[in-house]
Amino acid sequence: MNQAQSAAKFGRYGGCFVPETLVQPVMEVASAYSRLKASPEFRRELEEMLKHFAGRPTPLYFAKNLSRDLGRRIYLKREDLVHGGAHKLNNTLGQALVAKHMGKTRLIAETGAGQHGVATAIVGANLGFETQVYMGEVDIERQKMNVYRMELMGAEVIPVRSGSRTLKDAINEAMRDWSSSFENTYYLFGTAAGPHPFPSMVRDFQSVIGAEARGQIQEAEGRLPDSIVACVGGGSNAMGIFAPFLKDDVRLIAVEAGGRGLGHDDKTADHGASLGCGQDGILHGSLTRILQDPHGQILESYSIAAGLDYPGVGPELAYLAERGRIKTATADDRAALRGFRTLSRREGIIPALESAHAVGYVLREPEALGDLAIINVSGRGDKDLATVMEYENL
Ligand SMILES: *Cc1c(COP(=O)(O)O)cnc(C)c1O
Repeated sequence: MNQAQSAAKFGRYGGCFVPETLVQPVMEVASAYSRLKASPEFRRELEEMLKHFAGRPTPLYFAKNLSRDLGRRIYLKREDLVHGGAHKLNNTLGQALVAKHMGKTRLIAETGAGQHGVATAIVGANLGFETQVYMGEVDIERQKMNVYRMELMGAEVIPVRSGSRTLKDAINEAMRDWSSSFENTYYLFGTAAGPHPFPSMVRDFQSVIGAEARGQIQEAEGRLPDSIVACVGGGSNAMGIFAPFLKDDVRLIAVEAGGRGLGHDDKTADHGASLGCGQDGILHGSLTRILQDPHGQILESYSIAAGLDYPGVGPELAYLAERGRIKTATADDRAALRGFRTLSRREGIIPALESAHAVGYVLREPEALGDLAIINVSGRGDKDLATVMEYENL
């Protein structure tokens, strides 16, 4: 632990709690990013890619049938229409351009469900990096299609056999790789968590969601919404849509995975609700809310949506929740499946199971939204069809 680097960034949350071997690479990214984010040339380059490659801006769609059903005006921010099928490319494009400007030639990343690995493979192929993705053996078995997608685009998937052989172990392995490879390698972290500067940088790259939505809702309705609802895994799509509204009188609702619906005090963390049920602790380089047992052992998280299955949460969300600026809520598997089916049936939009948690919350507590709300549809649900079919056959 390097105390000089441990200064928290979001109240007592955040910071940079990394081993000595990672201090230099992390600091190099921090200084490169703070230089690049002020560069008009870098911003132009990113905007070009977001527009012509990722397909931005995404629509803000008035969900007329859902609105009628729930007796209020509900808009959907359509991140499911971003290239790759989710918001993740907003972040990987931004960071890959940072890596390019730093002169790096190799990208490494961690992935759980495989979605971030795929988004990294996309930018790796497009911008000409050698790309290696760390993935737990258990996840490789569960997510064969995404492994194949990554390989098609020229990325190598490295199986991780340590620990529980899932996402948190993949992050540990990627960090180990980086500590000895940073001369030519950039670690492309997948969510608004990890050591400084990753939580702020990932939020900034995802803020394009909220910045667009702000202009779009004002154009459509002549005012800001009463509320915005987003699902939370590590927190990147939520921080992305929330960030441009933090100073406004807009209710920001973060929906975590309630898992199998066993409540808030079960000992196995049969859910992914680190904000609602976690405790302060250090995970992957930052002080945040994490799911742990009384001895500080990280608990296994669980959600029907693999992308919400992370035992921690970004430090900025932890801080905003503590201050009461965001409201935290949960939707369990059943609520998410209801959201999945309802949005498909009523609007002809099949959401990712992750995003379906936000929809499920809205169906359960429409009165929490006020008269005008935006739901962030973080991704599309094609990847989840087999999971849903299997669940229905249980
Ligand atoms: C990865 C993923 C999430 C969860 O990650 P955040 O960093 O919390 O946004 C949510 N929705 C989709 C579609 C995802 O792929």
